[in-house]
Amino acid sequence: MNRHNEMEVHFLSVPENEAFARLVIAAFAVQLSPTMSEIADIKTSVSEAVTNAIVHGYEGTRGMVTMRARIDGPTIAIEISDRGKGIRNVQQAMEPFYTTHPEQERSGMGFAVMQTFMDEVDVRSTPGIGTCVQMRKRISLADTH
Ligand code: ATP
Ligand code: MG
Repeated sequence: MNRHNEMEVHFLSVPENEAFARLVIAAFAVQLSPTMSEIADIKTSVSEAVTNAIVHGYEGTRGMVTMRARIDGPTIAIEISDRGKGIRNVQQAMEPFYTTHPEQERSGMGFAVMQTFMDEVDVRSTPGIGTCVQMRKRISLADTH
């Protein structure tokens, strides 16, 4: 099947937009007929990436977060990007339990959650420029519809 679709949204880095981003990605992904569990995986992963952009990227200041998604056949690819402070060592940041904010009771599991729930997670970041998290997931029954 040659299913193809794309979307892009921009929103301000306020906590209210975590729920907004979860709903938008769920509404977009539904055309692949995902299971409840696949939808939950996608929403949770988007939530983690958007929370990171808001909390770490912009550190409570206001900036724009961009969420792009594209569907190619049975696969959904999602990109969450910010123009915040960036990450000096991406490999270290992605290690389970690594957090720069233990005092905020962060557990350092955001990237680990994304890697568990999505098939691929790729992070590009430049200090002072921003961060882009790309994730992909193949939806199990998408080709049979
Ligand atoms: P948790 O997600 O469990 O609440 P956390 O956010 O610290 O804790 P991760 O989501 O795994 O854990 O992120 C690890 C670290 O990577 C963060 O502590 C932060 O230093 C850095 N980081 C993640 N995303 C960004 C971002 N968009 N901009 C700047 N730094 C980031
Ligand atoms: Mg996090």
